[in-house]
Amino acid sequence: MQTFDFDLFVIGGGSGGVRAARMAAQRGARVGLAEVAKMGGTCVNLGCIPKKLYSYAAHFAESFEESHGFGWVGEAPRLNWETLKSNRAREISRLNGIYLQLLQGSGVHILEGWATLVDAHTVAVAGQHYTAKSILIATGGKPSIPAVAGCEHVITSNEMFDLSPFPQRLLVVGGGYIACEFASIFNGLGSQVTQLYRGHQVLRGFDEEVRAFIASEMVKTGITLHLNTDVAAIARSGKDLQVRLVDGSHISVDAVLYATGRVPLVEGLGLETAGVKQNALGAIQVNEQYQTSVPSIYALGDVTARIQLTPVALGEAMVVVDQLFGPQAGQKPRSMSYEFIPTAVFTHPNIGTVGYSEADACEKFGKIRVYRSDFKALKHTLSGSTERTLMKLLVEDATDRVVGLHMVGPDAGEIVQGFAVAMKAGATKEIFDSTIGIHPTVAEEFVTMREPVNAGAGLPTVTTRIDSP
Ligand code: FAD
Ligand code: NDP
Repeated sequence: MQTFDFDLFVIGGGSGGVRAARMAAQRGARVGLAEVAKMGGTCVNLGCIPKKLYSYAAHFAESFEESHGFGWVGEAPRLNWETLKSNRAREISRLNGIYLQLLQGSGVHILEGWATLVDAHTVAVAGQHYTAKSILIATGGKPSIPAVAGCEHVITSNEMFDLSPFPQRLLVVGGGYIACEFASIFNGLGSQVTQLYRGHQVLRGFDEEVRAFIASEMVKTGITLHLNTDVAAIARSGKDLQVRLVDGSHISVDAVLYATGRVPLVEGLGLETAGVKQNALGAIQVNEQYQTSVPSIYALGDVTARIQLTPVALGEAMVVVDQLFGPQAGQKPRSMSYEFIPTAVFTHPNIGTVGYSEADACEKFGKIRVYRSDFKALKHTLSGSTERTLMKLLVEDATDRVVGLHMVGPDAGEIVQGFAVAMKAGATKEIFDSTIGIHPTVAEEFVTMREPVNAGAGLPTVTTRIDSP
């Protein structure tokens, strides 16, 4: 019988890789893991965590402003960008250490360096070969920048966290998660932000009404949003970057952030050598068991370019481990469903969403009922802010099941997480209606919406606003 150095060799110590390695080792497997950079991957080092810390920092700006209506007097404090950067770096180093300890504590053998596939059971790291019964590719993704003239002057989200000096004038290109979040964050931190998006509305794929609503809220916070346009060329002129748009107009800024999507990180991985197949966009192809075209090699997370979210990579990792090494004692093997995955966009205000958009729900379920509420939150009766909140429920008429829940408003991510559980459990509108609200909260609106705005219709609602006091 062939013997291997490891039962499982994981390439990549990010969200998916660390979770798989740790869980497999806890089941008694002999696990090796190679990581070329800091432990924790994109989420910990250049994604979710530093982004959310900066988002918290940015929210203080509106809090200082709004405090006056509640009687607070005095000048608002100024941001010390250097302090924010160094405090963030300290916290991220602490997390790197925790990830390392968790892996070492579980008995995972850690190798520092770039890993390359040699064959179906062999990986090379720093000139050494390691054999494994199974190999897991969890190498994540990297930013993708289109070949626009002058693209050597632009930066990606990777560079935003340590920018020096602070960009007083920032151009953000793109209309997805990263573009919208960074536009909001740097606007809050004090930059004069212009966002350009090539399409008719930001956040393609989200509910149409949510898209329009967040765009209008972002503009209210001070972001200049140009839709249906794109960059023609970028040139440096002294300290300035001169950006020419396709309509011939110019913008002069200190920094240009391209947030135009991410691509799987697969170059130099030896996929061809090992015979691992990719799709047309470069993502590693996997079957429902996360197995690649080579049965002993698995892949998950962003490198498979399905839903690029940390909790998805974590969920997939646990499914792979259960398959390879059996479930935890007393539990059933886990499975992964891609329906009803909740998500938040940490714009100001946040978007929280779970389930189908109105258009998708109409297409899938036919007749649906739409419940919506658009209001000024109690806090803003004194704060002076003109911010409004949107809440929306989509209900399959035939079954009464809530199939879409959307919110644009403060802490939408926190609020929607709980409702996602109810929706996974198949909650009907009747159950929402029989749930007692928590008063006075913004969230109680989700259990007090009584009248559908499109009674009897199966078509998307017109986006007129209902102004409640
Ligand atoms: P990664 O976390 O990217 O890990 C891959 C690891 O593999 C990296 O550490 C890399 O160095 C290593 N590696 C690559 N190739 C090799 C090799 N050949 N040898 C050795 N090591 C290698 N998701 C959310 O859910 N919520 C958020 O708020 C959120 N915010 C984000 C903000 C930003 C700016 C970005 C960029 C992403 C954000 N994401 C967010 C997405 C999330 O970070 C990813 O979906 C998640 O990190 C994917 O995990 P992964 O394990 O697939 O890959
Ligand atoms: P997205 O795919 O979300 O958005 C990319 C944006 O760039 C889209 O608006 C797209 O336009 C635009 N774009 C793509 N190519 C070009 C081009 N050649 N020229 C001009 N514009 C272009 O990617 P992001 O980079 O924002 O984020 C990557 C992923 O990371 C997200 O999809 C998400 O899964 C994850 N993420 C999650 C976060 C969270 O959970 N809060 C936060 C940040 C990232 P179009 O729509 O027209 O194609």
